[in-house]
Amino acid sequence: MSLSDLFTEIIIDHYQHPHNHGLIPSPTHSSRGYNESCGDDIQVSLIVEDNVVKDAKFSGAGCSISQASASIMTDLVKGKSLDEIKELSQKFYEMVKGENGEPGEEMGDAVVLQGVAKFPVRVKCATLAWHTLEEAIKK
Ligand code: ZN
Repeated sequence: MSLSDLFTEIIIDHYQHPHNHGLIPSPTHSSRGYNESCGDDIQVSLIVEDNVVKDAKFSGAGCSISQASASIMTDLVKGKSLDEIKELSQKFYEMVKGENGEPGEEMGDAVVLQGVAKFPVRVKCATLAWHTLEEAIKK
């Protein structure tokens, strides 16, 4: 099995069994994002306390890349400060655009999305969850 086969398998697993799926009943922050070029639709809800994300969930529909990215993103941001998240999202954008070298350990499962850099149309699918997260935090 090649590394890219393994990455594809992890993406499909997140798509079929998404982590943190659903809506938080009374979120402190939430936002909804669309990717019109693919039809992806993601709603992100958060509980932020003392500048730290205590809980994160997402719901929505769309392609495997967009949904897997949201599943991975919600895993990654839980327990992180808003400053750490800003840094992480920046690194994620660079990774999926192929602008950075090897992604660091802090990217967790998100490394499986680095292959998206070869498919510019899919970059928007991969970044939707992160853009929606940033919108939610800004509010
Ligand atoms: Zn998509």
